[in-house]
Amino acid sequence: MTGTNDVYGVGEREAAGSALIEAYERGHNLGDWRPIHERMRIASCRLCGCLLWIVRPPDKKTWRAGGNALNAD
Ligand SMILES: [Zn+2]
Repeated sequence: MTGTNDVYGVGEREAAGSALIEAYERGHNLGDWRPIHERMRIASCRLCGCLLWIVRPPDKKTWRAGGNALNAD
């Protein structure tokens, strides 16, 4: 099951992009991504200070988004 594609990092832009869009649709205005470490980026909202992050678990090749910027309300 070892692929030859360089999948590392490929999912990062997609995860970050869709997370920003999702937060924007909820009325947030996220600033720049700040790297926390190699597997985590955080952006904060300019309006309310809520947080959006993307993380890549050590055993995964895909990124996932989280944070209260994605919550309703
Ligand atoms: Zn906000």
